[in-house]
Amino acid sequence: MGAEDPRESLPIENVLIIGSGPAGYTAAIYAARANLQPLLITGFSRGGIPGGQLMTTTHVENFPGFPNGVLGPDLMDLFKAQALRWGTHFLEADAESIDLSSHPFVVKANGDFYKTNTLIIATGASANRLGVPHEDVFWSKGISACAICDGATPQFRSEELAVVGGGDSACEEAVYLTKYGSHVHLLVRSDRLRASAAMADRVIANHEITVHWNTDVVDVEGSEWLSAIRLKSSNSSNERLLPVKGLFYAIGHTPNTDLIKNQLECDLNGYLLTRPGRPETSLEGVFAAGDVADSEWRQGITAASSGCKAALAAERWLSHKGLAKRVIRKSVEPESAESPEASHATSPPEFDPNGLWQLGSYALRKLYHESEKPLLVVYSSPSCGPCHVLKPQLKRLISEFDGAVQGVEINIEVDEAIASQAGITGTPTVQLFKLKALKKQWQGVKQRSEFREEINHHI
Ligand code: NDP
Repeated sequence: MGAEDPRESLPIENVLIIGSGPAGYTAAIYAARANLQPLLITGFSRGGIPGGQLMTTTHVENFPGFPNGVLGPDLMDLFKAQALRWGTHFLEADAESIDLSSHPFVVKANGDFYKTNTLIIATGASANRLGVPHEDVFWSKGISACAICDGATPQFRSEELAVVGGGDSACEEAVYLTKYGSHVHLLVRSDRLRASAAMADRVIANHEITVHWNTDVVDVEGSEWLSAIRLKSSNSSNERLLPVKGLFYAIGHTPNTDLIKNQLECDLNGYLLTRPGRPETSLEGVFAAGDVADSEWRQGITAASSGCKAALAAERWLSHKGLAKRVIRKSVEPESAESPEASHATSPPEFDPNGLWQLGSYALRKLYHESEKPLLVVYSSPSCGPCHVLKPQLKRLISEFDGAVQGVEINIEVDEAIASQAGITGTPTVQLFKLKALKKQWQGVKQRSEFREEINHHI
């Protein structure tokens, strides 16, 4: 760095964590409790959504402490609340670059630079795609990478659906989709399921699921919406069409290590290499946690455990080097964490014509017909992880407008007819109305600035 470099004057973090899955949040909880006030860059769209892979899972039944299971997104909300309670600073953005060429390390996110004495990489792994010729044409028009997020959308109801893959994700999604589809086809490229025995047994015993062994997806077809998949048996060259209205990918993940390529040692598949059983990477002061360095176990609990190790190792390293700058807490006991919101549809007596955020079809009808303000309608479903990410962002955005904008949330499982009428093809979908006219529609998690910019045009 030259003398003029503005990065020279930046404050130096004790611990910077990249990634907000179980590994990143656990590292944050431990580092924060060590009074190191970590900065956690959550990630935003690159490599999946904040909260990681559990945000696209339904019931997690093997995470200790939840005897009756817990929804993946709910579990991650709890992790986050705990990290926040102990003083973690959050930056909701993607890391754009990592420079490990000198110490302190420099990370760029949201256009700004951050310097840090230790770095914990917990960037996880991203869902793979098949890459068949017409995949892009039918993406979000029948093809989805998240059955849990999109399964409840009206286009899939009572239709034949397919899942590709043979692991736990594929089996879980196939079972989940039987709630909505008339029948589910599980397309497995080999003659065995890789899933755990309990999960595989559930699939095999389910009469609403047909497993197609030794089957490859060659392409997808349709007009406006997906109508069929072209399949080929691995032991013949004959192709056949399977008519389905939905195709869900569950074909594994690739580690998110592109930002540290050529800076840290990785294995042939791109997973970060660490000292055996330990979080230290090939560079002093840089630690790895979670799936980014684990091609084998890849569980929420193993990720959390490696996040704990990474934070403890970072703390030891900082202390050993005399670099730890501990914060002094105002009080020994931090305030209790906020409990995740419980929401129920706004009833007529509860309806507030000036309410900033209300829920359900009654509020939507009233505001759509009677409000002159811009109205943001977010279509969500309870198990949709991306909805958990987006809703707090939208609520914060709406509160910034000081009453000039209103929001309504529609649970598409409850208000199926409204979702169908609105042409919703996946969750979350956000529609912006002004005086009953649809001004703009977004699908998936987007930056707050995108919504803000559009709303500003209509105020
Ligand atoms: P996995 O890597 O375990 O499985 C991927 C599956 O996709 C394999 O069956 C693989 O086939 C298949 N596949 C890969 N590429 C293709 C392709 N191009 N065409 C067709 N099929 C393909 O990934 P998962 O996401 O299922 O699981 C990841 C981890 O998360 C695992 O450790 C799993 O146990 C865990 N998990 C746990 C859950 C739970 O406990 N509730 C839920 C979901 C996941 P092949 O077998 O032939 O290689």
